[in-house]
Amino acid sequence: MKHLPTDEHEARELKQQNAQPWQVDLLALNPAATLWGPEEPMNDPAWEPSGDYTSWADFRQTHETLDDRNELVHFYFEVARPSEECRRCDGTGLSPNAQQMEESFHAGHSRLRLTLDECQALVEQGRFWPIAPVGTEPTKPLVDDDFLERVNAVNGGPTHRSPHDPIERLTLEIDWIGRRQLIEYRCKKKGVAHQCAACDGRGTTYTADAAIVTLYLWLILPAKERSCFVTVAPIERGDLVNVLRFLEMAANRNAERFAGVVRRAEMTYSGVRAE
Ligand SMILES: [Zn+2]
Repeated sequence: MKHLPTDEHEARELKQQNAQPWQVDLLALNPAATLWGPEEPMNDPAWEPSGDYTSWADFRQTHETLDDRNELVHFYFEVARPSEECRRCDGTGLSPNAQQMEESFHAGHSRLRLTLDECQALVEQGRFWPIAPVGTEPTKPLVDDDFLERVNAVNGGPTHRSPHDPIERLTLEIDWIGRRQLIEYRCKKKGVAHQCAACDGRGTTYTADAAIVTLYLWLILPAKERSCFVTVAPIERGDLVNVLRFLEMAANRNAERFAGVVRRAEMTYSGVRAE
């Protein structure tokens, strides 16, 4: 988790992480942007991963302080229970039945033949459009003649349903998420499990009993003309005072660099004095 839960699904996910309250508290300190990190592919050579530190003490040995040559410009905490790819489902999160269905879709083929009830199930989950004609109130979408007519209009003719096909089948283009929803629906219809029993559909299994905190830091090294990101994990409870003091130093330095702009009300002669 990189932020406090915002819905039931995330609350459940956090519970599964088995995190301690102080770990969860750190998530409240995070900035909104937490999508950068070592796993993001960076083709720019100026962006180098500069290392994964295995303790806060280890990090501070290399980065003793912040100065004009070492500025910390971004950070976030992540709380996660160590895990590995589920061996039973190869990380797909699918049951053997569901995996078989997925394989039968032939990788890369996005056009699938659906029965009308399958089509209805996907329509209700918002996979197909247009649902409501322009200018009308959206209602519960129905796979009826009206819907088929509009699918035809989008497809540029009734090409999706060949005269030789049974009337209750449609060939429709569906994306990866739609395919997953279709698999779930077909499993339900057959009364078989949809998710992998070993990992509850997560695709990963835990390798530790409890969560650990990872701190992500984004540093810029102007003299070396590069910026880098590092990870420090685990952050222990005993590190907190020093970690937060270090982040506070960065916050003050960042604010101070721009302080002149904020203080522009003091400008008298340039004509750009703040209102
Ligand atoms: Zn699994």
